Amino acid sequence: MEAAKTHALPDPEAVKQAMLEKFPAKVAKKRAKQIVVNRAPDAAGRVPEIHANARTSPGVITQRGCTYAGCKGVILGPVRDILTITHGPVGCGFYSWLTRRNQTRTQGPDDVNYMPYALMTDMQEEDIVFGGEKKLRQAVREAYETFRPQAIALCATCPVGLIGDDIHAVAREMKEELGINVFAFSCEGYKGVSQSAGHHIANNQVFKHVVGLDDTTPEGEYRINILGEYNIGGDAFEIERLLEKCGITLVASFSGNATYEQFARAHTADLNAIMCHRSINYMGDMMEKKFGVPWIKVNFIGAQATAKSLRRIAQYFEDPELLARVEQVIAEELPEVERAAAEVRPRTAGKRAMLFVGGSRAHHYQELFRELGMETVAAGYEFGHRDDYEGRAVLPSVKVDADSRNIEELEVEPDPARFRPRTGPEKAARLGAGGLSFAEYQGMMAEMAEKTLVIDDISHHETEVLLKKYRPHIFCAGIKEKYAVQKWGIPLKQLHSYDYGGPYAGFRGAANFYRDIDRMVNSRVWTYVTPPWEAEEAPEAKAVYACG
Ligand code: SF4
Repeated sequence: MEAAKTHALPDPEAVKQAMLEKFPAKVAKKRAKQIVVNRAPDAAGRVPEIHANARTSPGVITQRGCTYAGCKGVILGPVRDILTITHGPVGCGFYSWLTRRNQTRTQGPDDVNYMPYALMTDMQEEDIVFGGEKKLRQAVREAYETFRPQAIALCATCPVGLIGDDIHAVAREMKEELGINVFAFSCEGYKGVSQSAGHHIANNQVFKHVVGLDDTTPEGEYRINILGEYNIGGDAFEIERLLEKCGITLVASFSGNATYEQFARAHTADLNAIMCHRSINYMGDMMEKKFGVPWIKVNFIGAQATAKSLRRIAQYFEDPELLARVEQVIAEELPEVERAAAEVRPRTAGKRAMLFVGGSRAHHYQELFRELGMETVAAGYEFGHRDDYEGRAVLPSVKVDADSRNIEELEVEPDPARFRPRTGPEKAARLGAGGLSFAEYQGMMAEMAEKTLVIDDISHHETEVLLKKYRPHIFCAGIKEKYAVQKWGIPLKQLHSYDYGGPYAGFRGAANFYRDIDRMVNSRVWTYVTPPWEAEEAPEAKAVYACG
C-alpha cells in the first residue's frame, strides 16, 4: 500500500466532526463526549474527560457483547474444571462456546477439562410460559451424573431474567442435594450496557462462593496471583513459564488456564498482579479488603512491559536474590526478542495502527506497536469505564448511574480468621518511594500521544470515517469488524481471539506478534483490493426515516 505510506495524518477535530455530522442531533451530542482528541497530562496529571460506560445509542452498529458474554465467555470461559450450564436458549450458549480461543493444560490423566463442552438448558416456548426452574434442576442432575464435577456454575441469559426463574434457589437446592459446590450468576445479557457488567457479576460470585474455601498454602517463597489474564492463544502458558523461571509461585490465575482449586486457595497469595484492569479490578479490591492481599498493575504485553512487570513483582518482595534472578531471566530472554524486533522494524517502522478492543487490550498492545516503531493514531475500548481511560484518580468523581446500580456491589469485611495485612505502613512507604504504588492504574490516555483520537464504544460508521481519513496500515478489533475492515483493503488483527495466532504475551509472545504484524502490514494482498475512496463513485445507502 504505497499510497498509505505517504498519507499525512488528518486534523483529528475535523475527523471527529465528520463522524458526528451524520448522526441525529441528540446522538451527536452524546457521541461528542465519547470521542476525544487526546492531550498530554497537565501538571496535575489530568487528561481530557471522556464519557464512557454509557448505553449505546439504538441503531448504531456497536462492537459490544452482552453481560452474559462477559460473565460466561470472558471470566468463566477459561476455567477448565467448573462445569458451566447456561440456562437459556441454545443460541446464547453457542455464542459463548470457546470463541475466545482460551487454552488450558491438564496436569495428568485424571485431570478434567470441561472447556470443549457447551452445556445449556435449551429453553423453549413452554419454559418461557411455565417457567424453566424444573428444567434447570434436571439439567444440573444430568450434568452431575455424566461428569461428576466438584463445582457447577449456572449462568442466566435474557429470557431467564424476564420470566424470573430463581437460579440462585436452584443452585442452593442442588448444592444440598448433590453435595458439591453449585453457584449461580444473574448475568442476563441486558443487565448492563456491555459485557463489563458480566465481569463484575462473575467476580462477585467467584469471590463469594469459591475464593477462600481452601487454606492450603502452596509451596514457594514468592506467591502471587495473576488477575485478568485469560490465556488466549496460550498467553498464560508463556507468563507461567517466565514466573517459574524467576522462581515465583503462581497460586491462581483469574482465569486463564485456571482451576477451581486455584480460586479456592487464591487468598493464600501475597500479591495480586492485575493485567486487565477493567475486567477484574473488583476481585483485586475485594481480596485486599477481605484477606489483606494488595494489588499492583502489571502488563505482560510487550517485551519492555514484561521486563518492567517482572521487576515490579520482584521489587514487592524486597529480596535481593529474587531481584537478581529476575534480572538474569530478563537478560537471557531479551536479546532474542530484540533480534526479532530489529529484523522486522525496517519494514514496520512509521506505519499506523488503530486499536478498538476490550478493556485493557487497546492500551497494552500499543506497547507492542511502539516496539515495532508503529504509531497508534486512534484507540478506544468497547466496554471501558472512565478510569480505564483517565486513570483511577477519577473514581471519586464517577457518577453511579441506573445501569451501574443494577449490578450488586458486595459489602466486604476483613475475614476474622484469614485477614493478614501483607504490607505495613513502613513497607508501603518504602516501596512507594521506590516507585511501586498499590491499587493504582494511570489509564490509557496518559500514554497516548497528543492529538490521537480516543473513542469509546466506536460504531461501524465511525470506523469507516477513521479508515477513510487515516488509512491505517492495520486495524485491531474483533470478528464482527474483521471482514468489513478488510474489504477496505486494510488488514485486521483480532485481539480478542488472535485469529489463529499467539501467544503474544511475554518475551516469546512479543516476537510472535512482531512477525505476525510484519506479515500482515506488508502483504501485497491488500493492494488487490480497491477501497471505496478510490472507487469513482462510492455507493452510499440512502434511508428514509418515518417520524411521528
Ligand atoms: S443478549 Fe441475551 S439473548 Fe442475546 S446472547 Fe446475550 S444473554 Fe443471550
